[in-house]
Amino acid sequence: MRALKDYAAELEMRKFPYEYELWDREKTCQMLGTEAYLGGVVTYRDGHLHPLNLCLGEVRAAQSLGVQIFEKSPVTRIEHGEKPRVHTSSGQVEAYSVVLAGNAYHQLEPKHLSNLTFPAGSYIIATEPLSDEMVNEINPQDLAICDMNEILDYFRLSADKRMLYGGRCNYSGREPASIKAAILPRMLKIYPQLRDVKIEYEWGGNIGIVLNRIPALGRINNNVYYCQGYSGHGVNATHIMGEIMADAITGTMEKFDLFANMKHFRIPGSQWLGNQIIALGMLYYRIKDLL
Ligand SMILES: Cc1cc2nc3c(=O)[nH]c(=O)nc-3n(C[C@H](O)[C@H](O)[C@H](O)COP(=O)(O)OP(=O)(O)OC[C@H]3O[C@@H](n4cnc5c(N)ncnc54)[C@H](O)[C@@H]3O)c2cc1C
Repeated sequence: MRALKDYAAELEMRKFPYEYELWDREKTCQMLGTEAYLGGVVTYRDGHLHPLNLCLGEVRAAQSLGVQIFEKSPVTRIEHGEKPRVHTSSGQVEAYSVVLAGNAYHQLEPKHLSNLTFPAGSYIIATEPLSDEMVNEINPQDLAICDMNEILDYFRLSADKRMLYGGRCNYSGREPASIKAAILPRMLKIYPQLRDVKIEYEWGGNIGIVLNRIPALGRINNNVYYCQGYSGHGVNATHIMGEIMADAITGTMEKFDLFANMKHFRIPGSQWLGNQIIALGMLYYRIKDLL
């Protein structure tokens, strides 16, 4: 509660221009239908959205402006020069500028980018649509919720009133054998009342973690840029960074330089140690959370 009160006090001090509330235990139980939490801060500026639909809408918008998108053609290397060339296994594209935005999935430009971002898995389950009574009991305000752990659990309702519940599966960094088996007990700990509800979907992916949690952007040379490492908060931040990258390519460097000059810690050997590094990192944050 002390941390939440400090957070609310900081919002006040900074004259946060949107509505927010500090909830005590009773109010939190009443609004979220769970006794798991001591309290919460709600900020009504924030929202939640369907990220795949956002992506598909942006694809349509980009294509209407003449952008061509080539799926299933991973870039295997970049040939640098006055006009850089990106190579795939069966083709190549020449460009004026290249932006590397492959998150924690690509291994391009290792000399500059290895050890900068490391992958950590995050996974989600989705229940069947919930009854109106259940929705009213557990989330009548349709809020998106996360806990305060470093390696956090997060949940919200979809538009068709499924509970989407996400978090880590394990501390080993390995792909889980069953996402449902790992996440369901975590959801039931918060919401035992969902015990008879069917789980209809499960999925996950890698989050690109940078140690100081500030997106890592920069330039490998004059015309090849990179932008990655949103540490699990990229849905919003990628859009801000997209504008900054577009400005940089067209010659306005002010915000780009601000971020590019941030000091980032590298984890030596993370490309070879992979899972062991993640396991160690997860263990560190787990101990912090338990303390
Ligand atoms: C389960 C889960 C839940 C999440 N929940 C949230 C959330 O609630 N809020 C939030 O803000 N963020 C969330 N995130 C994080 C968010 O998804 C990421 O921060 C965001 O997608 C990063 O955007 P990006 O464009 O950098 O990378 P991505 O969206 O991962 O896109 C990278 C793209 O690069 C492509 N690529 C990779 N290598 C190559 C290559 N060699 N050649 C060509 N293409 C390549 C990939 O195929 C992919 O399409 C979540 C992530 C996961 C996995």
